[in-house]
Amino acid sequence: MCKNPHQSNPSHFQGSAEEEMTASTVEETFEQYIKGMKFFDPHVHMTARTTDDYQALADAGVVAIIEPAFWLGQPRTGLSSFKDYFATLVGWERFRSSQFGIKHYCTIGLNSREANNEALAEEVMEILPLFLQKEGVVGVGEIGFDDQTALEEKYYRAQLELAKEMGLPVQVHTPHRDKKKGTERSMAIALEHGLDPKMVIIDHNNEETVKSVLDQGFYAAFTIYPFTKMGNERMVEIVKQYGPSMIMINSAADWGISDPLAIPKTAALMKMKGIADEDIRLVTYQNALDAFAQSGQIKESDFIHGMEIDQSLKFNGNTVLRGGQAPRVNKNSLIIR
Ligand SMILES: [Zn+2]
Repeated sequence: MCKNPHQSNPSHFQGSAEEEMTASTVEETFEQYIKGMKFFDPHVHMTARTTDDYQALADAGVVAIIEPAFWLGQPRTGLSSFKDYFATLVGWERFRSSQFGIKHYCTIGLNSREANNEALAEEVMEILPLFLQKEGVVGVGEIGFDDQTALEEKYYRAQLELAKEMGLPVQVHTPHRDKKKGTERSMAIALEHGLDPKMVIIDHNNEETVKSVLDQGFYAAFTIYPFTKMGNERMVEIVKQYGPSMIMINSAADWGISDPLAIPKTAALMKMKGIADEDIRLVTYQNALDAFAQSGQIKESDFIHGMEIDQSLKFNGNTVLRGGQAPRVNKNSLIIR
């Protein structure tokens, strides 16, 4: 198995050699294939991740991320938990990301699971407009269906109206069970509310849903989970079949088994499998940027040439550093190495 991509033609990976290409091979060598590439992860839950993850993302060329508001693994019991969580997304987490040179945006919304607590959902709806107006909030999300209940539908519809009023894109979580039906229903309701499909990013697609999503003019996002759902190989096949237009990939990394490096690793595999550099750039960077820049909240010049890093800065008196650590001040550098 060839270990050095610079001495081989990517088309070398064909036939039996291609079949030998295992996930572990990709892990060992993916960095060599993505040198100089920049990535935009439009779905990653960094509050659940460590500073090591931030460092790894920066090292792999991830320059900007979007953190959608979601559920925390167990239901919240009061409004103040939502308030503090939303405040963290636009506050501390954004600061933490900046300490590793990564531009952090978020989407704000009431997730589908907690839409089933009607009394609390009503209260959350009241505070959403306040947070949706904040700087760096690039959409309403992630919202949609989980169990496809009547209450989920009620708050999905209410939040679509909110997105429309505020001129924001919508990031739609599609259900893991009954996915095809849930995805079709999510799109039909969005159209019923008069949303432009170009303002709606349908997430967690698979081979069964992608054609209909693209045919109806919506953005189709794909989550690369390790070992489940979209495997990297499957994603390569989808881009080969449908082309790069309106397609974006994300890691959706969170507190569960997931991989924040899913985008750079998939980009490496695409490169090995002969997908054109420009097509890789579209599905791992540009399409996500175009979709969420419709919020008017994204300025590419803020991150395309790297962000200044100053770890001597503090957020409300707090820092990512621990006792005795020297702050890294790395102005005008592209990526921390
Ligand atoms: Zn998510």
